[in-house]
Amino acid sequence: MTRKNICIYGEEVLRKKTKFVKTFDKKLEKFIDDMFDTMYEANGIGLAAPQVGVLKKLFVVDTLEPGEKMAIANPKIIWQSEETWGMKEGCLSIPGVEGEVIRPRVIRVKAQNAYTGDEMEFEAEDLLARVILHENDHLNGVLFVDHLTSSDRAELERQLQELAVA
Ligand SMILES: [Zn+2]
Repeated sequence: MTRKNICIYGEEVLRKKTKFVKTFDKKLEKFIDDMFDTMYEANGIGLAAPQVGVLKKLFVVDTLEPGEKMAIANPKIIWQSEETWGMKEGCLSIPGVEGEVIRPRVIRVKAQNAYTGDEMEFEAEDLLARVILHENDHLNGVLFVDHLTSSDRAELERQLQELAVA
């Protein structure tokens, strides 16, 4: 397996839209393995393809809870609870920056298994739901800092600027 370079805040690719995954082959399998490898090395619990410079609708997650390791392609959030909760989030592409994000507590997801292409539909809650929503945002060029309150965002602005010019 190979560790990939993680793109950092300020790099254009993090703001681009992604394309649907259509071919599920050995090459993609290797790419997904590399993504897991890269995520574990960086002590992350989620990593989306644009974060390694690939504009595909694909991400990997592993909350380290049983059954919560997944490689997901072409996800669609088909339902979300009205109930929300806040938690401090970070992002491997925005090192050293954390901020509280309010997200739905429960979601229903339709997607494809990124290894096999098999269709799947499942419900996720709490941390798993949060990670999936965070990674799904990456597929649309959205970063967690976009969800912060304006005062939280203002507090982090300097750190973000420093990352962007580094
Ligand atoms: Zn992220």
